[in-house]
Amino acid sequence: MSAKIINGIELSHTLRTDVAKRAAALTAKGQQPGLAVILVGDSQASQVYVRNKIKACEENGIHSVFEKYDAAMSEAELLARVDALNHDPKIHGILVQLPLPAHIDANKVIEAIAAEKDVDGFHISNAGLLMTGQPLFRPCTPYGVMKMLESIDYPVRGAHAVVVGASNIVGKPQAMLLLQAGATVTICNSKTRDLGHHTRDADILVVATGKRNIVTADMIKPGAVVIDVGMNRDDAGKLCGDVDYEGALKVSGWITPVPGGVGPMTITMLLVNTIEAAERI
Ligand code: NAP
Repeated sequence: MSAKIINGIELSHTLRTDVAKRAAALTAKGQQPGLAVILVGDSQASQVYVRNKIKACEENGIHSVFEKYDAAMSEAELLARVDALNHDPKIHGILVQLPLPAHIDANKVIEAIAAEKDVDGFHISNAGLLMTGQPLFRPCTPYGVMKMLESIDYPVRGAHAVVVGASNIVGKPQAMLLLQAGATVTICNSKTRDLGHHTRDADILVVATGKRNIVTADMIKPGAVVIDVGMNRDDAGKLCGDVDYEGALKVSGWITPVPGGVGPMTITMLLVNTIEAAERI
């Protein structure tokens, strides 16, 4: 068997066309959607992510503001910037790029973002709304994964979904979205005994650990959908996921590549969330 590829670039293109139309309609009414992105510090990886987000806004008619600050910025200064953006009528979405320098309490900063502008969906009230089945914003990466499953018409209802990774930004909200779509969900973490025992029973396997090759072909149920969220570097410095891609291709029914899978979808869903925020005004 050779898996079919779920192409995140192609799917993003389709979804971004819709984003651009909705942005144009809002702009025509004098309400151009706006996203503010704050970056503190000089992390190369964060700079690349932020640049891609800003570029995606520009390409799709979303007004963007990029604020870059020195790593020495104080927590109070950052909170003041967030507060100013909360009150800026041109800004509908605020994203503070994580991680933040160690002297800044990231939870405090996220809680300072107005919940209705929290397009990352990380604010505690948005996490609660998601948990109780009334999401205001779905966190971008898990939201993108759900769109990928939708794009292949996968019958999520009744399927066994296994999520490997339980972070607040990927694994936990992913599990919630799958549960709400009717899947039976297993969540694995670093303490899970015999990971393969769980993954081999998955119809849908979402892997988000940041551990290269944590899932190998022998851990995948034949025909399963494998969604690889991980972003790692291989020995040659090339971007790769958490799944042994070449091995998994031979066993799974569907698979997402890295790069070109979940990554572009995350940015696309940030645009969608920004549009949704602007449309609610
Ligand atoms: P994280 O906060 O470090 O969380 C990693 C999770 O994986 C934790 O829940 C951890 O378990 C679990 N884990 C670690 N080792 C494990 C093991 N051996 N078996 C089972 N579970 C294990 O990472 P994250 O922010 O969720 O990100 C995960 C990966 O996705 C990273 O590679 C990140 O770069 C990538 N990512 C990609 C996108 C994208 O757009 N493509 C977006 C976000 C993140 P514990 O809870 O027990 O510690």
